[in-house]
Amino acid sequence: MATVSLARCPEYSRDAIRGRMMRSLEEIGFDPNRFRGARVAMKPNLLLPAAPDKAIVTHPVFFEAALDIVIEHGGRPIVVESPALASVEKALRRSGYGPALDRTGVGVADATGTAIVHNERGVAFKRFEIIREVCDAEFIINLPKMKTHGLTYFTGAVKNYFGLVPGLEKAQWHLRAPTAAEFTSFLLDFYGAIRDGFSPRKTLLNIMDGICALEGEGPGPGGRARFVGVMLASEDAVALDAVASAVVGLDREKIPTLAIAESRGLGVGALENITIVGESVSSCAVSGFVPNRSTVRSGAPRWPFTSSFVKNLVLERPVPDARLCTRCHQCRDICPARAISTTAKNEKTPRFDYALCIRCYCCMEICPEGAIELQKGIVKRIIMRRSVGKNTIEPMR
Ligand code: SF4
Ligand code: SF4
Repeated sequence: MATVSLARCPEYSRDAIRGRMMRSLEEIGFDPNRFRGARVAMKPNLLLPAAPDKAIVTHPVFFEAALDIVIEHGGRPIVVESPALASVEKALRRSGYGPALDRTGVGVADATGTAIVHNERGVAFKRFEIIREVCDAEFIINLPKMKTHGLTYFTGAVKNYFGLVPGLEKAQWHLRAPTAAEFTSFLLDFYGAIRDGFSPRKTLLNIMDGICALEGEGPGPGGRARFVGVMLASEDAVALDAVASAVVGLDREKIPTLAIAESRGLGVGALENITIVGESVSSCAVSGFVPNRSTVRSGAPRWPFTSSFVKNLVLERPVPDARLCTRCHQCRDICPARAISTTAKNEKTPRFDYALCIRCYCCMEICPEGAIELQKGIVKRIIMRRSVGKNTIEPMR
């Protein structure tokens, strides 16, 4: 059995969030006095530098409320995060974290210093490189943002730990685990390493910013901010994600981390086995929350989707929009498959090689202009064309 606190949180007011967060900790049976004298690693979601109202990053006010609690209870906080391309300092400042950092003097871990953590029970992977300063912490406060995701459908508490992998090493994991199923397996092996791979074990506290969430083509600038008005807290990241996805009405069967995590003993994914304290799911539920349109799901088998011919027929591919593209080439720099080339003189966007592309959608996540959209595979486009007039399809691009 796992316990998740679900709280209504109508606005980004530091005092109000801090007060409700304290109550949430009490509801899940966590005493913040345990922070006294301890190193506390604080992990927000800073996918890329982005204004807080875009709902791409954990809101700085939400982060600051958690930071205040740690400091007031004698903890020694440090920010641990590593955006894929930007420096963490730049991402923090451009995402509105500057005032909180300056006021509290909290330090930021150097993501270039790394350490290895193991998960002997890992199913696909057992050895992981992470930001070294995580190793010194007794507590990790994981502060995910409630968002949709192209590859994993939903990105919440479990996926947010992926940010402990330093910089471009993240993209390499997409190469090692190219399908959604493999990447899910990796994410869970990695979560298992953070949860169980240290001696003594660290205490993981997951507190989700679900006040303003990201719907549609998340987790980056392609998504849309959507007010949901909740905060969730739990020591069980899997259970927290199960409750969060229920609040926004996402199909939990499409969130592979939930069921697989439970079968691996990493947490509770079934709602009926979770004790929800505070508000009920029904009282906080929002309707019409838009999922990511991507059809790549963990159930997709490795073969034949890794064949480039079949892949191009079936899977959605990332296509840059010349009207929005500024030719910054961040997509090229993040692409783990080296499938994106520098823009040629007579072209308006970088060129994508879909034979090399592994459909990890890192380019979509990172594009600061939201200029990369999904184009359906040829087979799906033909099926949809035939369906026109039957009122069964969404508009084609
Ligand atoms: S598609 Fe996006 S990330 Fe790529 S060059 Fe254009 S604006 Fe930059
Ligand atoms: S082109 Fe985009 S989706 Fe394809 S491999 Fe590169 S980053 Fe991933």
